[in-house]
Amino acid sequence: MKKLILILLFISLSMNFFASQKIHFSVDDVIGCFENLTKNEGKYSSAFDEPFFAYIKFLHEKYNAKVSLYCFYEKEGFSLAECTERFVDDFKASSGWLKFGFHAERPVKGNTFDGGGYKMFVNQIERITGTSDCIAKTVRLDYFSGDKKFIEAISDKSTKNGIRQLLCADSSRDSYYLDSVQKSELNKSEMLIADNLFFAKTDFRFDDIKNFKELFLENKDENEVVVFTHEWLLEPAMRKNVFKYFLQLLNSKKIKFNINRFFEYYTDKDCEYVFEF
Ligand SMILES: [Zn+2]
Repeated sequence: MKKLILILLFISLSMNFFASQKIHFSVDDVIGCFENLTKNEGKYSSAFDEPFFAYIKFLHEKYNAKVSLYCFYEKEGFSLAECTERFVDDFKASSGWLKFGFHAERPVKGNTFDGGGYKMFVNQIERITGTSDCIAKTVRLDYFSGDKKFIEAISDKSTKNGIRQLLCADSSRDSYYLDSVQKSELNKSEMLIADNLFFAKTDFRFDDIKNFKELFLENKDENEVVVFTHEWLLEPAMRKNVFKYFLQLLNSKKIKFNINRFFEYYTDKDCEYVFEF
């Protein structure tokens, strides 16, 4: 019996040792790219002619990355319902490395969720991409907010193409409806299972340019590395104040430089890019 236990222990330890590291990369607050696609549908011959999508494709082609884009349903008068469906073939063909997940119905702090926005989001993504394969089941909700009722309503228990996993805060702030005991468990183990859902801690955001090196070094060899940034930081919108626009552009260059450094570290390493844990 002792021998069997030792053998089992050895197998489980070595499996753990050889298990590849999982890397989850995502972008929050995504919607501008859909508006660009729609405005330029006559000009673009592929969805990947759009600058933001072109950048995401570059990450996939150069580093083999898988990317989750967490989207708003509506922002500043543009909604996914207005988005062109001219590029379904491009999205269908890229569903193995590019997925879209729900972030919020609209960018309003303290969102009051009624559960309606999720179905609208799923329906529109299915229309825009031509497939439900493009829908991410692991999401990060805006401001890490959503009460138990809402999250239950959007989970795959309650709705078709619902969520299974939630990415939590990269700081000590609260995530969703987790209580203080669950929060400290999450901070300790970086993951938590509750109400049939898997919660994972986000490790860091590329937005914090000043602390990138420190954050990267602290997290780079963890079993699960969860990182993200924002669409508006990667592709700053043109603005009247040229000086401000130039600063934002410079910022986006720095973020992209750090993202390259991040992916370069994992090149030729035994790691797996994932949409889900
Ligand atoms: Zn957000």
